[in-house]
Amino acid sequence: MNRLLIKNGRVIDPASGFNATADLALENGRIAALGANLDFANAEVYDATGLVVTPGFIDIHVHLREPGIEHAETIETGARAAAAGGFTSICCMPNTVPVNDNATVTSYIVDRARKFAVTNVFPIGAITKGSAGQELAAIGSMKNAGIVAISDDGLPVMNARVMRRAMEFARSLDLPVIDHCEDLNLSAGGDMHEGLTSTGLGLRGIPASSEDVMVARDILIAKSTGARFHVAHLSSANSVAMVAHAKKLGLPVTCEATPHHFAITDVEVASYDSNYKMKPPLRSSCDVEAVIEGIVSGAVDAIATDHAPHPGSEKMQEFEKCPFGILGLETALGLSLEKLVHSGRISLGAMVALFTTGPARVLRLERGTLAAGAPADVTIFSTDVEWTYDVNQSFSKSRNSPFSGRTFRGGPMATIVSGNIVWRRD
Ligand SMILES: [Zn+2]
Repeated sequence: MNRLLIKNGRVIDPASGFNATADLALENGRIAALGANLDFANAEVYDATGLVVTPGFIDIHVHLREPGIEHAETIETGARAAAAGGFTSICCMPNTVPVNDNATVTSYIVDRARKFAVTNVFPIGAITKGSAGQELAAIGSMKNAGIVAISDDGLPVMNARVMRRAMEFARSLDLPVIDHCEDLNLSAGGDMHEGLTSTGLGLRGIPASSEDVMVARDILIAKSTGARFHVAHLSSANSVAMVAHAKKLGLPVTCEATPHHFAITDVEVASYDSNYKMKPPLRSSCDVEAVIEGIVSGAVDAIATDHAPHPGSEKMQEFEKCPFGILGLETALGLSLEKLVHSGRISLGAMVALFTTGPARVLRLERGTLAAGAPADVTIFSTDVEWTYDVNQSFSKSRNSPFSGRTFRGGPMATIVSGNIVWRRD
């Protein structure tokens, strides 16, 4: 029998509204009980005095690079980095080699995750074959094999007719459609956000409108098809406003924000450090404020990292030649505490919801709750432990983080998956 008693932590469970000091008992991979001074014989004890105990964090947007790009990340290393970031469940995008556009690849990922991942891994399938934007992928059989959503992520479906067919089909299967909203014609050739900074640096710009027009298009297609539509990593003020409007109309539209999009602006790019190069690009301070406002107002459903490992050989080139994307799993909680909670913008409970019930609701994962009988996935974190992120110590195989060397106040302390402690701070 596998028993763990987490004693005396401040337990925050947004699913039930519970927010008080209590003990949490886990048994045989399930939540057994929550209450004061639990008597739980023969259990391993974790003393959580002074710490926060919540449902396991869920990241609905990561890139694990396996199969095919294992020199950048594997399911095993990505899941270890997730656990070190406090995440117990991660959802991986389909842009592997081959693309996860059929049940064989989905089953391979599910099988590798079962064998090697310390966290739960939920695959996201491609919308179109090879994410080429033309023919629909084998969505039905991928759903049977375990996908929880469809997306062509960094290769967004440009043809509105194909997107309409995808949403109709996804609706019939009750799968959400996640779009990395980018009009590739508007963004073509750009390396950073188009604005004063790009002009000053002489770098080619990606206008915010390249995101906005796709958010608008897909909200309208979602409205006409009734599909559940989720905006990945929204970053512009107009996107936030449109999602908020869609919600007001009662449409099944949701969105996520990444820590880097609410923590830093395009001004950072002046260093020409390619670790500030991602898509969508770091935006203006007005956009950053709008994303935070969206989080405050409830327009944003989830915090997701878009963890995108790239090996040094690719990131250490001239800015224009580097691939887009940065690591995110290990710094998400530290940045969220700093920019959202310590800054007084949202409550601790609201932040926890963005990592738990929010993402669980978007993808209808039966996670993000401490109800008795639920999977024993638990995150324990501190709001004041001081620690410095050293990317060279990362569990990821890659090193592309702009936050290496940054000191955080608050961060993960232990990560528990199915009742087992899979990571703990030394
Ligand atoms: Zn993306």
